[in-house]
Amino acid sequence: MQSINDKITEIFPQDCAIVFLEAHPDDETFLSGGLIYQLQNMGYQIYVIYCAAAADEKLAGTVGRQQEAVRALRCLAPDRICFLPYFDSCFENVDTLVSVKLTEAVRCCTDLFTRISRPIVLVSYDENGGYGHKDHIAVHKLGLKLRRTNTQIRQLYEVTINRSLFNTWIADHTHKEKSYLPQTQYWAENYGTSAEEIDYSFTLSPELTELKRRHLSGYASQMSAKEFPLILSDEDFTELFGTEYLKK
Ligand SMILES: [Zn+2]
Repeated sequence: MQSINDKITEIFPQDCAIVFLEAHPDDETFLSGGLIYQLQNMGYQIYVIYCAAAADEKLAGTVGRQQEAVRALRCLAPDRICFLPYFDSCFENVDTLVSVKLTEAVRCCTDLFTRISRPIVLVSYDENGGYGHKDHIAVHKLGLKLRRTNTQIRQLYEVTINRSLFNTWIADHTHKEKSYLPQTQYWAENYGTSAEEIDYSFTLSPELTELKRRHLSGYASQMSAKEFPLILSDEDFTELFGTEYLKK
């Protein structure tokens, strides 16, 4: 695993727009919040596309979740935040990311990309979709398909969770209350990526780590200050979320 802190412009060429493909609001901050803010600070053209977060007033919480995303990403111009017309897979009888054909989602992204006048570095999810949510795995497949079919994309990276780090940390903290620990019962057994299979790491500055925690706390519909990860001590939060991981 190599640190990209000293070679960000090598990994992300400055003539490219950087497009983050996400499933749901809050995923962007969990998995790559530090990287997004860092690239934004360096003057990159950043886009964040949510693939499973369409909103409809008739579907509880969907409008609010979009608003939370726009607030968390207030460093980006509003037209850099896009929502595909597909809903979270928890909803039935509507078009969800997992119910539509991959080719349709590809076409939808390709239409969005025509607004971007530069080559693209695409950032999606690893093959396990981070912790294994089916919408996240769909985002992984979408990223791969786009990379194969769209010549505007110069490079694809996949954000991931460092499974070795999490497993060790969880084993060291089993004495803690349940609320202090991640709810791994919702995670796939093979979540994220083992440390030796991760290509790159990005270490957040203390300021970026603090900003990441603050932006996560803005997702009030998704997490409480009394639970993982917001309940974590600064030291534990930094250990688990103060470094972000990429595969190429
Ligand atoms: Zn998600």
